[in-house]
Amino acid sequence: MRVASVSEKVLNGVAAAAGVVIGPAFVYREGQPETAARAAAAPEEELARFEEARRRAENELNALAERADDQGREILTAHQLMLQDPELQNLVEAAIRDGQPAEEAVRTATEQFAAMLEALDDEYLRERAADVRDVGRRLVAALTGRTVGVVLQRPSVVVARDLAPTDTIGIDRSLLLGIVTEQGGPTSHTTILARSWGIPAVVATAGVLEAASDGMTVALDGDAGEVVLDPGAETRSRYEAAMARAREQAERDRAEASLPAETPDGVRVELAGNAGSPGEVAFAMEKGAEGIGLLRSEFLFMGRSTAPTEEEQYQAYAEALRNARGQRVIIRTLDIGGDKDVPYLGLAKEENPFLGVRALRLCFRRPELFQTQLRALLRASVHGRLAIMFPMVSGLSDLRRAKEALAEARRSLEAEGHPVADRYEVGIMVEIPSAALLADHLAREVDFFSIGTNDLVQYTLAVDRGNPELTEMYQPYHPAVLRLIDRIVQAAHAAGKWVGVCGEMGGLPEGALLLLGLGVDELSMAPALLPRIKRLVRSTPAAEARAVARECLELGTPEEVLALVGPLVRRVG
Ligand code: PEP
Ligand code: MG
Repeated sequence: MRVASVSEKVLNGVAAAAGVVIGPAFVYREGQPETAARAAAAPEEELARFEEARRRAENELNALAERADDQGREILTAHQLMLQDPELQNLVEAAIRDGQPAEEAVRTATEQFAAMLEALDDEYLRERAADVRDVGRRLVAALTGRTVGVVLQRPSVVVARDLAPTDTIGIDRSLLLGIVTEQGGPTSHTTILARSWGIPAVVATAGVLEAASDGMTVALDGDAGEVVLDPGAETRSRYEAAMARAREQAERDRAEASLPAETPDGVRVELAGNAGSPGEVAFAMEKGAEGIGLLRSEFLFMGRSTAPTEEEQYQAYAEALRNARGQRVIIRTLDIGGDKDVPYLGLAKEENPFLGVRALRLCFRRPELFQTQLRALLRASVHGRLAIMFPMVSGLSDLRRAKEALAEARRSLEAEGHPVADRYEVGIMVEIPSAALLADHLAREVDFFSIGTNDLVQYTLAVDRGNPELTEMYQPYHPAVLRLIDRIVQAAHAAGKWVGVCGEMGGLPEGALLLLGLGVDELSMAPALLPRIKRLVRSTPAAEARAVARECLELGTPEEVLALVGPLVRRVG
């Protein structure tokens, strides 16, 4: 038993992304309930506060612009201009002179200004309404001493209640050492991002926000789910030793990146990477990915104030394909909704967003949005080996409707004389139990399946994937899940189609071993996880994995499954 030093505070959360790190905390307080409205001070004082907030917002935008790409810089410039807009300024000043505190005045003025823009005939100006609202949010945050988005000035461990993907989009990854959140689960989208960046993360860490303060040293272990605030000398040296071991392992992984993922008895598994942007495609390839098993296209739509145009999307998809150097890139069509909100799309608030208008359901309701993406994808198809994948397919009618939309996009491009590749694969995510149960029907009408275990687990077990209260119940090793996966694989193979897994389960050693045993052809995961899974594949005979998986299908609980698989995985280390 380890004895904690007098000052250090040890907290336990859920291990979310592997790795250990020590660094100063950056406590991100955005997303906390807003403090109660304050009474207005004298107008002169409120005007001075507004001026100060404007300067602060401007500095934040400058800092963001320094490391943004061209497209990001364009948006940030628009926001800078908005901050200086005399009309907006007049509205705020008038509201302050009317007796409102600066926060309230900014809210009223930006809402008025945005509504005014929305009423205009000019489409470009109408779209600026979202920018105005964004700028208003930044100003209110500056007035209340908070920041919008995580803006790091030095290498830091970000401590937050939770991080929405939009909060993380502007993060300077070279300064991000680790993430600790009070909420979130192992497959929430922030966790997925952390894992894909190879950044250690611990989520569902009760009490961390209250206990941590800016600049406090934080040690975090993303394998054990441990967070130590203000670590003592003994803890520090333990963490430093672990960091040194991780560096050595990373060296070995680099040396082994080009070895094939083949079991000792000659079964070849394709190991691919998950990505959220063209840049991450390049990163995955460096880590030894044999292609991209999931490019979450919705991340291109986040952290901005309007949807990317067909041309912008085409450029991004073409770049992703080029970065994969001839290997297959599976680009998933938009999966917005659930825990991924895109404010400018104006999605309705729902009681149960994971069961609501998400992914294809949203695309079917917004044919323009869907057609723009499908056209951009097909135009990009000439730049590499493209596969298009539809998410959240619940049955044959979803699939047929999505394929018809794709055919329509193709017809319109051909009519306009755009070149489109002759051959690209079309597949679906199998992540809703109804699709798993109808896999035999679906398999006849697709080129491939990719099993989305993150959602398949949540929908099969009725456990919200992001609810920290239910982390224990969120079990990819549940025999009910394994039986569904078995059924999906059998159906795909019976129809002569290949089947992959792009959910987080494929990147967990126990999960990968079971999936290998169930006959999955491809595993796609956060690139940082590839080396370890490759070691596992190269040292586990497929015949042994098959025998264990068969046995697990007959078990009754996830605990029994883990008891059987755990020792085989630990053997590899
Ligand atoms: C999944 O559900 O397993 C998946 C890969 O998709 P997402 O995590 O984006 O829902
Ligand atoms: Mg999913």
